[in-house]
Amino acid sequence: MPATRKKIESNLAQIRERIAQSCAKRRRRPADVRIVAVTKSTDVESLKSVVELGLTELGESRSVQLGERAEELAAWLARRRNGGPVQVNWHMVGHLQRNKVRAVLPVIACVHSVDSLRLAEEINLRAEKLSRVVDIFLQVNCSEEPQKSGCAVGAAQHLAGLVCTLKNLRLVGLMTMGPLSENPEDARPAFVRLRELFEDIRHDGAGGAAFTQLSMGMSQDYPIAVEEGATVLRIGSALFE
Ligand SMILES: *Cc1c(COP(=O)(O)O)cnc(C)c1O
Repeated sequence: MPATRKKIESNLAQIRERIAQSCAKRRRRPADVRIVAVTKSTDVESLKSVVELGLTELGESRSVQLGERAEELAAWLARRRNGGPVQVNWHMVGHLQRNKVRAVLPVIACVHSVDSLRLAEEINLRAEKLSRVVDIFLQVNCSEEPQKSGCAVGAAQHLAGLVCTLKNLRLVGLMTMGPLSENPEDARPAFVRLRELFEDIRHDGAGGAAFTQLSMGMSQDYPIAVEEGATVLRIGSALFE
């Protein structure tokens, strides 16, 4: 059963409260933490609810589903009479195959999962054909689990430098996923590592001026991620279940 609008509203209030608590611990401003609503576990009706609740950054982890949902939502937004015009931004948060870049690029604002130069080059090429600049995050495998996507910690700095030379990409930050675990605290070392790496890259100047974001923290571990400096949380089940 998908969650009702009321349920999503109360989930969102709770998430914002926990973000505020984590911010207070570290003297951060809640306004500096954005939520990307990851919609893979929900239906289009719930998606409309989150947009009406004011969340306009939406994420998907599968490219085909992202395309379908973006289209459906755009049609709904165009028909909608109440309220002013709303623009939503779609974020590709999951693994992106190079042969899917062309299809998905026209509907997305941002890719969180760039982990190789070949993928970066493909996005750059397709973006150039659309006369666009696409925001990207480099995904880093901070927990060093072998089955996980993301470039190695030791390769991130070099890759950031190379990606910055691609004219139709804008490197906005780094992304990581915490380890699969019941205990949110298990994610903290990975988040600390990502932040340190981010600071190293920034110190080098490899990232460029737009390099300001840390995409880390999901339903299970976002309060920890905020404590460790996340600026973008990718939240699905805590919002929709
Ligand atoms: C599914 C997914 C999320 C959201 O996961 P929840 O645990 O439902 O919050 C975030 N990031 C990525 C890359 C995902 O695939």
